[in-house]
Amino acid sequence: MVKKTIDNVNVNGKRVLVRVDFNVPIDADRNIIDETRIRLALPTLWYLLEKGASLILMSHLGRPKGQVRLDLTLKPIANRLHQLLGTSVQITPDCQSDVTKRMVASLKPRQVLLLENLRFHPEEEENDVGFSRILASFADIYVNDAFGVVHRAHASTEGVTRYVQEAVSGYLLEKELKYLQDTLAEPQRPFVAILGGAKVSDKIHVIRNLMMKIDTLLVGGGMSYPFLKAQGYEVGDSLLREDDVDVARDLLKEARLSGKELLLPVDVVVANRITSDAETQIVAINCMPKGLQGLDIGPKTRELFANRIATAGTVVWNGPLGVCEVEPFAEGTRSMVQSLKQAGSESGTITIVGGGDTAAAVNLIGFTDSMTHVSSGGGASLDCLAGFPLPGVIALSDLK
Ligand code: AMP
Repeated sequence: MVKKTIDNVNVNGKRVLVRVDFNVPIDADRNIIDETRIRLALPTLWYLLEKGASLILMSHLGRPKGQVRLDLTLKPIANRLHQLLGTSVQITPDCQSDVTKRMVASLKPRQVLLLENLRFHPEEEENDVGFSRILASFADIYVNDAFGVVHRAHASTEGVTRYVQEAVSGYLLEKELKYLQDTLAEPQRPFVAILGGAKVSDKIHVIRNLMMKIDTLLVGGGMSYPFLKAQGYEVGDSLLREDDVDVARDLLKEARLSGKELLLPVDVVVANRITSDAETQIVAINCMPKGLQGLDIGPKTRELFANRIATAGTVVWNGPLGVCEVEPFAEGTRSMVQSLKQAGSESGTITIVGGGDTAAAVNLIGFTDSMTHVSSGGGASLDCLAGFPLPGVIALSDLK
């Protein structure tokens, strides 16, 4: 079902309650370390202000588990948002007291109010009816632009939608769904998925769902070892859980039966420890030494994967291809970013990168702008790739 967006409602002179994802990393001195998520919300906020709405913004920060935690106040975010929006941003003491209700009631068009951390209230994650009703009472129209939490049925993402006239998506959520749902449903072919990261069992639903849609699956990183083991290779001390080997064996069989290409590393970078001064060697996959761990894909694998990416119509990628946080094991992930960038610029390949660790890796390497889409949500993008329903999206008003 197609959902309404902010383009489908008249917000002029209305109070608009916007669920944003301002869950940004903050250091002990309350400095924002990475403000990407705040910036991603700006197009929606600018649009609503320009159209004459008054804005009540709400977000969570960290995991206060229903307790007020001074280190998790949204005050530093209100200050930064003030600078970015160029308009003053008041912050409420909480989400439901009389003081907060009075602040909301006195809000004028084009003014901005930020509710204090939603998760200071246990009712938020409990999707409490009373709390949802209070949030809904603040506004005429509800906008969800917090892709990072749409896979959660919380009061601010799901409960609240039951008690407002209109519940619509903002521009960030619309863009995330365009690429992570619509494009994956009808991809330009060949459709290539790259999966890396730590464990197969964490991503089994993603692999199963993508397997139905893709032409080629490239598997690297820690999750490749159960597949290699299932094919009879020795994997030394690499990341491996015996349960994952059975899962990998089943998936290899599924790929074979459905005629899908599933490529595994042909060489790897091995070391005896994960440190920046570790001594590394490159070995063929049939020569993995005992006592060493595979920590990155090797140069032949990088080339093999790059060839598939170069001819792809659509590429979706989730999970680093090695321990990319530690320099001697970062090259595989770095080369994959380069391959995606090149395919996008030379062949118009649609390149979609999942959130969380993969987005952080692309950000660090510095080519976020060269990708068609880099998701802002880790868990939410995995749920999308797994084909799971998203409660925060289902709850939005249908476009009739
Ligand atoms: P995930 O959250 O499943 O995407 O996993 C991301 C983590 O997988 C990152 O912290 C990587 O360091 C780790 N990782 C990737 N490749 C390997 C590997 N070969 N061995 C151990 N950890 C890995």
